[in-house]
Amino acid sequence: MDDRYSRHDLIPGWKQATLQAATVVIAGLGAVGNEVARSLAMAGVGKLVLCDFDTISYSNLSRCILFRQNDVGRFKVEVAAERLIELNPSVVIDARQGYFARVLGLAELQEASLLIACVDNLNARLDVTGRCNLVRSPYLDIGTHPWGGEVRLYTDPEAACYACSLPPDRLQADTQASCRAPEEEVAVGAAIHTTALAAAWGTSFALRFLLRLSCPAGIFRFNAITGATDLVSVHRNPDCPLHMPIGNVQQIAVSNRHTIQELLSELSPDSRVWLWNAVWETVYCSACAYKKAIWNAEKIFDICPECGGDVQYTHTQHLEDIPGHLRLLEIGIPEREILGVETAEGFTWIALSGPFDTTAHRR
Ligand SMILES: [Zn+2]
Ligand SMILES: [Zn+2]
Repeated sequence: MDDRYSRHDLIPGWKQATLQAATVVIAGLGAVGNEVARSLAMAGVGKLVLCDFDTISYSNLSRCILFRQNDVGRFKVEVAAERLIELNPSVVIDARQGYFARVLGLAELQEASLLIACVDNLNARLDVTGRCNLVRSPYLDIGTHPWGGEVRLYTDPEAACYACSLPPDRLQADTQASCRAPEEEVAVGAAIHTTALAAAWGTSFALRFLLRLSCPAGIFRFNAITGATDLVSVHRNPDCPLHMPIGNVQQIAVSNRHTIQELLSELSPDSRVWLWNAVWETVYCSACAYKKAIWNAEKIFDICPECGGDVQYTHTQHLEDIPGHLRLLEIGIPEREILGVETAEGFTWIALSGPFDTTAHRR
């Protein structure tokens, strides 16, 4: 029969229905994210969840197949969703405008078939690793450099993770919870050839994983100068802090539209709720006594608006420290997030189970 997928059916091991049942999260809709998203949409993966906080700039146009010049200034996920539906109307596209850790709760991540990290900085990679390891979700990391790239597929939370391959000083400095804001794209040399190559290798591994076919483990690297590829095995670092799995999770009938106070009232009074990433409390200037509360990870600044001096920030990782009238959404907690709760009896886990505002972040 001549249908959209008739050539797929001739590929040994290919099961279109298996792909159709899969949900893949794509974190980052830059150059690599564009290529991966269009390939998976055309391959017929059932649902793609797109996460990106950024808007389209002119420099994206040389590498992003889904974006046009008229799209500059629009949200990447919004435009990507429109173009992917054109490519394959049968794919469900769930576009979330925001940093993936703030728009995709851990309970939702746990249900996804695979997360593909198409990000461009170490902090985001560590957030991917930490969150996927917590809920034991498989993830694939794709990176490029001017004449090459690498792809890493992690399917076993007990085996080596992305952070296991970092030198000890980086691991200590970078895996500690911090109140970092999503990083802006760092300008490095890049063009479509390595983007397309890295994304094609990554998509091949992703499809094989989704089709339950064998996949290479370790770091796969390609070098466009020499034409060489190789596979580097990575060993589990026993000191790596990113392998603690979440235990039993209790569902709480609270959504991220509820306030902090409403969540705390569902818990025993001595509860301390831990946030995965610290939240800014105040920005202050010691030179002129300028001080401002800054709860919602809004755009931060380095220079005092009053006197031009350097500013400093205080932050907290405990929900009880934050004004109770704020909604969980306002401090960057996604729907269906899982949070750790410490009480006199020990440590437990809660999942926000709704009802949810399906319009927030959706594009
Ligand atoms: Zn590790
Ligand atoms: Zn000042």
